[in-house]
Amino acid sequence: MPKQNRIDLGSIRAARARIADAVRDTPMTRSMPLTELVGTTVYLKHEHRQTTGSFKLRGATNAVRTLSDAQRMRGVVAASTGNHGRALSQAAKSAGVQATICMSRLVPDNKVSEIRSLGGEIRIVGKSQDDAQEEVERLVLERGLTMVHPFDDISVIEGQATLGLDICAGLSEPITVLVPLSGGGLAAGVASAVKNLDPRSKVIGITMENGAAMHASLAAGRPVQVEEVPSLADSLGGGIGLDNRWTFEICRDLLDDVILLSEDDILAGIRHAFVVESEIVEGAAAVGIAALLAGRVTTHLPIVSILTGANIDRDVHRRLVAPATSQG
Ligand SMILES: *Cc1c(COP(=O)(O)O)cnc(C)c1O
Repeated sequence: MPKQNRIDLGSIRAARARIADAVRDTPMTRSMPLTELVGTTVYLKHEHRQTTGSFKLRGATNAVRTLSDAQRMRGVVAASTGNHGRALSQAAKSAGVQATICMSRLVPDNKVSEIRSLGGEIRIVGKSQDDAQEEVERLVLERGLTMVHPFDDISVIEGQATLGLDICAGLSEPITVLVPLSGGGLAAGVASAVKNLDPRSKVIGITMENGAAMHASLAAGRPVQVEEVPSLADSLGGGIGLDNRWTFEICRDLLDDVILLSEDDILAGIRHAFVVESEIVEGAAAVGIAALLAGRVTTHLPIVSILTGANIDRDVHRRLVAPATSQG
C-alpha cells in the first residue's frame, strides 16, 4: 500500500472545534539560544502549560465528547496514574461524564489525591499496573464503562492532532517538528495534521534509547515488546500493544525519523529548559531540546520542538537542575 495520510484535515478541524472551550491554545515562542546553536529558527511549543499539565487533555477531551449518549451515561474508565489519568478525569468532569481511574495500592498518595481533585473516581485494586488494567477490563464487561486508551484510539489521535493544527496556524512555511514519542498517539496525530497542511514538512519522533517500544517495532516491521527500564522520561515508558490498531501504522507511514537519546542527553534537556528557557518541564517533554543540544537533528527547515508536559515532582526537578557542586 502506498504511504498515505489516513486522518484527513476535516476530522482534525472538527476535533479542534469540539474541544475548543476545554483546551488552551498554548503559546509558541522563538528560542534565541537554540536558534543560535542550531543555525535555523527554533520554536518551542509550550504545551506543558496546557490544563492538567500535558497535551493529553486534547485527546481525552475529544474521546469523551465523541461518546454516544448511552456511553456517556455509563462513564469512562482507564488505568493510567500519569498524564492520561489526569487528562481523562478533567475531560470527563468538564463533559458531565463519570471517570473511573483504576490504580494499584502501590501508587503514591499524592498521585491519588491529584486525580481525585480533578474529578476522577478512584478504584484501588491489587499490587500492580496489570491488576489495575484487569479491573478496567472487568468494569468494561460488567458495567459497560468505555475504556479510553491513552494513545491507540482514533478519537484520541485526532484530539492530539489538533496540536499540529495549532502549531501550523502561526507559521506559513514547511517545518520540522520534534515530537516526544511513546505509544505514538501524539506523533501520529501531529504528523497527520502537519503533513496534510504541507507535505514538505518533516516530523521526527524522539524517545529514550532504553525501552523504546515504537522504535523497536518500526525496526521489526510489527509491534514488539521491549523490556521496561526506568528513565528520566517516565511518561515515555510502556509498550505500544502487540494488538496495536492505529499508531504503529500511522507512525510507520508518516514519521521521517526516530531519534534515541541517553539519560544524560535527557538530563541536559531538562537543565537547558530550566536554566536557559526558564521552563519547568518533565523528562519526556525535554527530549526535543535534548536532541538539538546533542546535535542530532539535521534540517534546514524551521524547527518546532513540542514541550509536552510539566508533571515532574518538584523536589526531583530541583535536584536535577542543581549545579553539580551542590548535588547530593
Ligand atoms: C504521553 C506523553 C508523551 C507521549 O505520547 P504518546 O502519544 O504516548 O506517544 C510525551 N510526553 C508526555 C509529557 C506525555 O504525557
